[in-house]
Amino acid sequence: MGVTVAEEWLNACSGCEISILNTGEALLDLLPHLNFVHIPVLLDHKYFGQTGEKTAFEIPEAVVGIISGGVRNEEHQHVLNEMRQKSKILIALGSCAAYGGIPAQANMFKNDEVLDKVFRGSPSTNPSPNPDHPDVPKWTNTVQALDEIVKVDVTIPGCPPHPDWIADAILALLAGKTAWSLPERSVCDTCPVIREKKSAGGPIKRGLTNLDFDPEAGLDKMRCINEQNFFCMGPVTLAGCAGKEEVPRCVQARTPCRGCFGPIRKGARPMVDMMGALTSVGLDPKTLVDRRAIMNRYIGGHGFLTALPARPGK
Ligand code: SF4
Ligand code: SF4
Ligand code: SF4
Repeated sequence: MGVTVAEEWLNACSGCEISILNTGEALLDLLPHLNFVHIPVLLDHKYFGQTGEKTAFEIPEAVVGIISGGVRNEEHQHVLNEMRQKSKILIALGSCAAYGGIPAQANMFKNDEVLDKVFRGSPSTNPSPNPDHPDVPKWTNTVQALDEIVKVDVTIPGCPPHPDWIADAILALLAGKTAWSLPERSVCDTCPVIREKKSAGGPIKRGLTNLDFDPEAGLDKMRCINEQNFFCMGPVTLAGCAGKEEVPRCVQARTPCRGCFGPIRKGARPMVDMMGALTSVGLDPKTLVDRRAIMNRYIGGHGFLTALPARPGK
């Protein structure tokens, strides 16, 4: 029979589900032990019975519940509560579920500002759906991470999470463990570039020009991105994006880390710590354009991003 698993996607893009499929060979080992009883992104399974014959919303019971995406509307809230009730162990899969993710950047604005800008009255060649229609679920006040609403047992961060960690976490649960987490290391701890603990000083450059690197040479011949006066979130971001291979994926592609794995530990203040990291190599954080949004890009939940009072004259 295997361990029963239910999976749901809330305010999500399906990248996390693609990562589940990308577990590759490990998936072949896992599948005989898993019995997916509900996974709408892959299998047709309706909330009110397959033919709509039921009157109550229902998700089957499962030992493991996996949810990607945060909570943006009342429907998400409802599905999350049902998943929590029906799952013995609840996994937050991906940075949207864990921290609010990219969609939680909307928390910098009031809901009406976002709705006005995106759906109501903005000129478009593509008629927008009406967000005020009674069939459209009502937005919650902010985009929230799952653990702001229910108890989460296991968090697998990343945008998307690396398949190695999805397999690792599920194997740990199958072995009877009730907790799983990545070690508390920073992206910098796994980055092989040259570090001299100082930059050339001056303002932080925007990513409109290339880093200085030799495409034929290894990363161990490239200078640290922050020390090249660009902005890299490696110092305050949890390591693990390249799975067991370790070397951070964006730096492998010669681009800066943007923080998609979220903070290194619960309760960390990445914006404050990042300003310290920039200062320590001689850069002035105040020269970083739009720094509040950029430093909190993936973690708009948990109060990291909130609507600012309107500025005078705006
Ligand atoms: S964490 Fe990334 S991949 Fe997963 S749902 Fe959010 S945006 Fe998509
Ligand atoms: S700041 Fe970026 S480039 Fe520099 S060591 Fe950390 S991850 Fe690597
Ligand atoms: S380098 Fe940073 S932004 Fe890029 S994948 Fe890794 S954690 Fe995410």
